[in-house]
Amino acid sequence: MTAVLAYAAAQAKAPLAPYTLTRRAPGPEDVEIDVLFCGVCHSDVHQARAEWGGGLFPMVPGHEIVGRVRRTGGAVRRFQPGQAVGVGCIVDSCRQCASCGEGLEQYCERGFVGTYNGREYSGEPTYGGYSQRIVVKQDYVLSIPQNLDLAATAPLLCAGITTWSPLRHWKVGPGQTVGVVGLGGLGHMGVKLAKALGARVVLFTTSERKRADGLRLGADEVVLSTDPVQMKAQRNRLDFILNTVAAAHDLNAFTALLRRGGTMTLVGVPEKDHPALKVGGLIFKRAALAGSLIGGIAETQEMLDFCGAHGIVSDIELIPIQAINEAYDRMVRSEVKYRFVIDLASLSG
Ligand code: NAP
Ligand code: ZN
Ligand code: ZN
Repeated sequence: MTAVLAYAAAQAKAPLAPYTLTRRAPGPEDVEIDVLFCGVCHSDVHQARAEWGGGLFPMVPGHEIVGRVRRTGGAVRRFQPGQAVGVGCIVDSCRQCASCGEGLEQYCERGFVGTYNGREYSGEPTYGGYSQRIVVKQDYVLSIPQNLDLAATAPLLCAGITTWSPLRHWKVGPGQTVGVVGLGGLGHMGVKLAKALGARVVLFTTSERKRADGLRLGADEVVLSTDPVQMKAQRNRLDFILNTVAAAHDLNAFTALLRRGGTMTLVGVPEKDHPALKVGGLIFKRAALAGSLIGGIAETQEMLDFCGAHGIVSDIELIPIQAINEAYDRMVRSEVKYRFVIDLASLSG
């Protein structure tokens, strides 16, 4: 066991504050990682504030982790000390169910082990990346392409894969028009990835001030979703919509924009459910409403390699851990551009 410095919420809605946790000594299959950078996901805010109900406290959030291997267990071959590696939302799964067998550990029928606010199958609580060090089983550790900036790569481990997985599943590519709703951490990765996959991208935002950034990030068009005239002009034009909004809102405004046979996939998990959906908005164009959860380990590596090949990283604001509570408040106000990343050097320094 090693004592490790971290930041934790002592209880639901408590501000995050310094905390010392213990990590297990690496077993044969384990990789011990010095955390360099950790992205700040809106899911961290939802969970630290118990907006999804419950939660294990004290809670050390963080599931967009990039670090360097410190040491490895005897059975580890793929990773060497000093190597840059990543850890996302999943640190274990049953490895036996149909989903695990297909590399879709996020849908593990036993329930995957979350990087934080979860329990190892042994019962031990898990603590995330707002900490100096983490110990993770080798099969849940990702390799980071050498050409990518490490701090800006951290958000790929959740925001990147959560947008990549549905874009790939629904086969987004050339000849299609894709709507991305919400320009935050997930949304800005959705815009970059959909564009790199060859689609025409229409960004929907509630923040007129983000228009220029939306175009710079790769959107072909930016629509102010609060303007009925701009929304009406998009009717029946979208093949696929990736909805990343972190708050309850009117979904009917977006199903109206789908083409016949189109799909809107929800990835945002708001505290309160969306108002009821009008079935006519789906039936009269054989449209689909879907949901999608992060992504599996193999597709996370595929996404990282794609980002390496295309030079794609997140647009980040690097912060010291001491600024985390202010960062949460800014994220809730939709003011982040477009992902906060914690420099863990600030924890000891
Ligand atoms: P974020 O950075 O805060 O971005 C969310 C964006 O939603 C905001 O930037 C804003 O964009 C828009 N928005 C916020 N409040 C709104 C409102 N009241 N009405 C309309 N639009 C609003 O959050 P994130 O980290 O991208 O996460 C987004 C959501 O996805 C969260 O609920 C998070 O928990 C969830 N999530 C899900 C998964 C999954 O596996 N399914 C994985 C990670 C995160 P504009 O200013 O452009 O309107
Ligand atoms: Zn996340
Ligand atoms: Zn499983």
